[in-house]
Parts: sequence; structure tokens; C-alpha cells
Amino acid sequence: MDGAFAGPDRKWRDSIYSSGWRKLGSTIDVISPGSGEAIDRVGAATGQEAAEAAAKAAAAQPGWAALPYDDRARLFRKAAGLLEGRMQDYAGIIMAESGSGFGKAMFELSVAVRLLYEAAAMPTQSPGLVLPSQPGRISLCRRQPLGVVGVISPFNFPFYLSMRAVAPALAIGNAVVLKPDPRTSVSGGMLIASLFDDAGLPADVLHVLPGGGDVGAALCTDPHVAMIQFTGSTRTGRLIGKLAGEHLKKVSLELGGKNSLIVLDDADLDLAASNAAWGAYLHQGQICMTAGRILVQSSIIEPFTERLAKKARDLGAGEGDHAFGPLINQPQLAHADDVVRRTVDAGAKLLVGGGTNGLVYPPTVLTGVTPDMPAFREEIFGPVAVITPFADDAEAVRLANDTEYGLSAGIISKSVGRAMAVGERLHVGLLHINDQTVNDEVLNPFGGRGISGNGTSIGGPANWDEFSQWQWVTIKDSAPAYPF
Ligand code: NAD
Repeated sequence: MDGAFAGPDRKWRDSIYSSGWRKLGSTIDVISPGSGEAIDRVGAATGQEAAEAAAKAAAAQPGWAALPYDDRARLFRKAAGLLEGRMQDYAGIIMAESGSGFGKAMFELSVAVRLLYEAAAMPTQSPGLVLPSQPGRISLCRRQPLGVVGVISPFNFPFYLSMRAVAPALAIGNAVVLKPDPRTSVSGGMLIASLFDDAGLPADVLHVLPGGGDVGAALCTDPHVAMIQFTGSTRTGRLIGKLAGEHLKKVSLELGGKNSLIVLDDADLDLAASNAAWGAYLHQGQICMTAGRILVQSSIIEPFTERLAKKARDLGAGEGDHAFGPLINQPQLAHADDVVRRTVDAGAKLLVGGGTNGLVYPPTVLTGVTPDMPAFREEIFGPVAVITPFADDAEAVRLANDTEYGLSAGIISKSVGRAMAVGERLHVGLLHINDQTVNDEVLNPFGGRGISGNGTSIGGPANWDEFSQWQWVTIKDSAPAYPF
């Protein structure tokens, strides 16, 4: 067993977390993309466990919501403190299970600590209004928990992307059933169950069910589940939206992206190349906000491309902290390689990279990419910098908006006013002036336009909208007499 997974406290072995740790006969192997080896096993839930978990969560939720607010707040502070003490251990697990680098794993965990402290502040917030009303009547509206929230999460930032829904949903007084991606059942699920279990979360308020799409689909149709919060691909998001919509559930969909980093001709070229490399290659490009298009003004495209190509070569040859990790699995690698090949066949130039080494796809640079080519249009989810020239600011806007996605955009320029004028015209949910496209600070609402989502946001001030609903309450001293 991999070192990161060894030890007596790995309670999740062959288990799901539903009314505590429960061993199941059917299991999922945890495969390390780095070594290709099975490093652990967790229980494999089915639709039946999903139904049981949802019913138990529904029964436990009112008691959880009724706890004194300070008891709930204390639990999140405790979980945050526990996580701070476990970061090295958990980072080892995230790295072994998901192919993450150490820096990315620690970043993921450190934002999750902040998220838990933010969640700890939610039970003591006062989300309600006193409304004008008839004389003698008190009228108020208040936010109430939804009940049971089903969370379905992806593999790429497994711990954070599960936690960003689980923590605020619980903090508001919901119960949660979490189904992590089966490729990252431990990082995206079992570590979260362990943390809340050790922090003293009451029984049955949280359930974690490793499993495939069938378990997610079961949550989408279950009568005990009030809301589905899904983060993942647009393809799956459409299925979930349809299923959950048919069953009249609230649905939050945080989906894919084809994000543009725009480099204007007055940009500092070294900084622009650094931003492009970070945006395109962080976590091997497996991020929804990855800079999937790098739009560069024609007059600076040569010196910019030289700088980015050097960074790509250096990173590909890097070791230690800057070692370049594997993609999550073979189908993902085959997909990235296929998009690159089809784009080269269509006339683009493969300047750096291409080819594979195990599950490692090297940092790659494609130049001369035009809007009709696959790499311009398709989400690659691999480490490929796709460079497209533009003549002027109007063309940069046109190219950046030439996609159905609308998640993130970054603009690099020495003129903030000019960059803002470009940014104002982009159809995105996340806009960064003088930064690359991959950003999340926990405090910000996070959500996309177009096929990057369904108009919802998660994070910061959006969490109350997301995980609660209004109740209107009126109070009179005595009931009135009506005409009949
Ligand atoms: P995916 O859609 O294949 O899987 C995501 C989750 O959905 C997994 O837990 C999976 O088991 C589950 N699932 C699969 N089929 C299902 C079904 N029919 N019913 C219910 N659940 C089902 O996602 P992926 O392709 O592995 O992840 C990468 C995608 O996620 C990319 O497109 C990326 O852009 C997107 N993503 C978006 C965000 C965001 O915040 N917008 C963040 C990270 C990743």
C-alpha cells in the first residue's frame, strides 16, 4: 500500500460513510495515476445505499438545524483546526490518488481551511428581513435550509470542490449526501467524512458514497433530496439538470470552460508568458478555469511565444517541486492527444510537446490555431497552450466570445482602462484584469455563463442563495374575522 495510505486511522478501507463507517462487499480500487497501482480500496455504493442515505439524512436534518447556532459554528472551527494539523498527511493522499503536485495539493487544502472558517461564520449570520405590512401584523422573511443536499463532485480539485459545497450546505443547517468522483473517492470524499466525523458532526447529517454515475443519478431522483449541487463536465451537467429538473429539485451546475487569456500588445512579455504558463499548465491543465485559449496581439506574438515555449520545455524537463505530473487516466490522456493531433492535421504547428510518457502528457504549445480548429473549440483538460493571434481589441473580444462556454477570462496589459474596456464585453462569470484565468479565493461568488453553468454561483455571498430558500412568516396577535 502507498505510504500516504498506510496507517491504522484509514477507516474508509472497503467502506462507505453512512451511519458511520460501513464495510460493503463490493469495493472500488483506488488507483494512483503516478504508478498505475492500486493503493487502497473503498466501498462501492449503489442506488440502494443512496436511497438509504438520503432517507437517513432527511430524518437527521431537522435536529441538526435546530442545534444552537454556536454549537454548529464550533464544529466548523474544530474541523478547520483539525484540517490545519492534517495538511501534510492529506496532501500526500491527494498527490498519490490524483496525480497532483505538492504545491497544488497544499493550495487546495489551505483554501479548504479558509472555507471551513468562513462556514463557521454562517450559523451566526442573520439572513432575513423585516417587511412592511398591514398594521398589527409582523411580516418577515428568512432563509431556511433546503433539507438534504446531494453533492456530486469531480476529480481534479477533489477535496476543495467537494468541500466548497459540503461545508456551507451543512453550516446553513442542511444534511448532505456526497458522491465524489470514483477516481478520487478518498480525497474527494473519505477525507471529508473523517474530518467531520472527528469534529463531532451528529450521526447521519453527512453521508459519503463512493460510486459511479448511477449513484449520482439516484440522488437526482430521490424524493428526500431537495437540491443537487454538481461540479463536473457540461455533458454530465446536462443529464443531471434534466433528471433533477424533472423531479423538481433545485439544481446548481458548475461546468466546463474554454477560457481565454488575452495578451494585449502593451503587456510585459515576461509576465504575460508566466501567466500563460501558469494558466495553461497548472495541475496539467485539468482545471475548469484553465487558460484553454491564449489570444495574443499579432505584433508581439513571436517574442511572447518564444518565452512561453521556453517555459513549457523547462517545465517538461523539471524535477522535484516542479516535476510535471500525470493526467488522471488513460481516456483523459487519449482525449488530450486526440485534440492536439486533429488540430495539427487541420494546419496548426506543434511547437513544443505532444507525445506521451505513461500518463504524463508534456507541456505543449500549439501555434497558428484558428477558430475552426478543434483545440480552439474543445475543452482539452490537458496541458496544452493554444495560441491564436488577433489584430486589435475588437477582434480579441470576438475571439474570446466565440464559444458556448463562459467561465473565466484574463487580460494582461499595462493599461488597466484598456483591459477593462475589453473585459466589459466578455461573456464570463469570472473576469481577471492583469491575472490569468485560474483563480478562486473562497470569498468570491464562482459561476459561469452559457454552457459553463445554469446561472448559479457558489462561494462567498452566493452560498446563502445556493443552499437555502426563503420562507415568508407573518404574525398577528389574533386571527382576523373574514367576510365569509
Ligand atoms: P464528469 O462530469 O465526468 O464527472 C463529474 C461527477 O459526475 C463524478 O462524480 C461522476 O461520477 C459523476 N457522474 C458521471 N455521470 C453521471 C450521471 N449520469 N449522473 C450523475 N452523476 C454522474 O466530470 P469530469 O469530466 O471527470 O470532470 C472534469 C469536468 O469538470 C471538466 O469539464 C471541468 O471543466 C469541469 N469542472 C468544472 C468546475 C467548475 O467549478 N465550473 C470545477 C472543476 C471541474
